[in-house]
Amino acid sequence: MNYRIVVHYAELALKGNNRNLFVKRLRQNIKNKLLSMGLDWEVVTIHDRLFVNVADKDAALAETTVHEIARIPGIAWLSFVHWFEERTYRFMQAKPDLQPIHEVIKTLANKTYQAGQSFALKVKRSDKNFTYTSKQLAHELASTVLENSDWKDVDLKHADQFFYVNISSRGIAVHTNKIKATGGLPVSSTGKVLTLLSGGFDSPVAAWLMSNRGCSVHFVHFSASHQNRQEVENYKVSRIVKQISEVTGRARLFIVPYTHFDLALMEQDLAYDLILFRRFMARVAEQITQDIYAEALVTGDNLGQVASQTMANINSMNQSVTVPILRPLLTYNKEQIIELSKQLGLFDLCCEPYKDCCALISKSPKTKSKASALQRMESQHLSNYQQLIDDTLADMTEVVYRFGQLEEVNHSNN
Ligand code: ATP
Ligand code: MG
Repeated sequence: MNYRIVVHYAELALKGNNRNLFVKRLRQNIKNKLLSMGLDWEVVTIHDRLFVNVADKDAALAETTVHEIARIPGIAWLSFVHWFEERTYRFMQAKPDLQPIHEVIKTLANKTYQAGQSFALKVKRSDKNFTYTSKQLAHELASTVLENSDWKDVDLKHADQFFYVNISSRGIAVHTNKIKATGGLPVSSTGKVLTLLSGGFDSPVAAWLMSNRGCSVHFVHFSASHQNRQEVENYKVSRIVKQISEVTGRARLFIVPYTHFDLALMEQDLAYDLILFRRFMARVAEQITQDIYAEALVTGDNLGQVASQTMANINSMNQSVTVPILRPLLTYNKEQIIELSKQLGLFDLCCEPYKDCCALISKSPKTKSKASALQRMESQHLSNYQQLIDDTLADMTEVVYRFGQLEEVNHSNN
């Protein structure tokens, strides 16, 4: 006997060369995730599916691993399969011995039984050389379930528990309910972005949505404080990146101080400080995109959610840089974002208090901002902007995570 995880890709509409690249990338992403868990399992492409071949000794581990793989973007659904190789079992002969199939069905039936629920047994036969019809075999296997377990109710259409038997010329696969995965496109198949990550709910969800559209996602956070190595690991923003990297793979977080900006504006009573700050963040982030070859910035902005996120202020931020700023949450409402944050397991972490960057922000930020007025203020109060960016980046700390593991911490000034 053998075990496999069968992976069905999402976005089947993809065609031609794109599709090959997509499949290759997904295969590599699954392989990398498994390696990060210490599992050197083979991942192969056969026709329209990916197969993860699991060593017999690791079968119990595979049942939990399948849920980890389900979180990787680019997969529609997957199943943990008991695999009977044709070469070993010779099901295509006149009188095949189907006892091993009955045994597995018996075990699965007893393992999954829940009082008050119904079951269905589905057989699919793509190789017509097989002696039995699908109907005959389904009938026999359903009898095995009824005679050897507590299952009583059969409901072919709306069962709570399905048992599947798929017969092909290569062998027979037996599995229980399919596991729904995240969908989307494989990370690193569509581009690289840099997310402006705050300590709130929105930006982590925005980053995740971009990774689910195939982007490799990196992060920049503007902070009032400096952290040493221990502090960096416990820092809320680092833990958010660590968690997102569990599914996206390698994620770089750049923590940059905004003290230089703060000092430059100190004692200036500027009602526009928030929008000036956002333009500052965009400019520093733009410089980082050039260093890491990222193609766009991402923010967690929602149109109209707070005073800083008016159309005029969004435009003012855009006008400060040439790199595109993507806002995947622009049209989402708060409930949708919280719901996604919960689904992604980020909610509790994002709820933790985080005071770091609020000190700067004025109580009643301007909802309208004119490009000409902002430029005037910048040339007056922040006259050597490039120097400000250089000084800021000189105090940067880079933290790198890979599949939830800290890989390295670098401080740019030592
Ligand atoms: P969030 O829930 O993401 O904090 P928010 O609703 O609190 O968003 P703002 O504080 O106005 O809204 O921030 C809007 C966006 O600006 C954030 O989603 C994030 O992309 C970016 N941003 C805000 N503060 C920072 C920061 N200190 N460092 C990096 N990016 C930031
Ligand atoms: Mg915020």
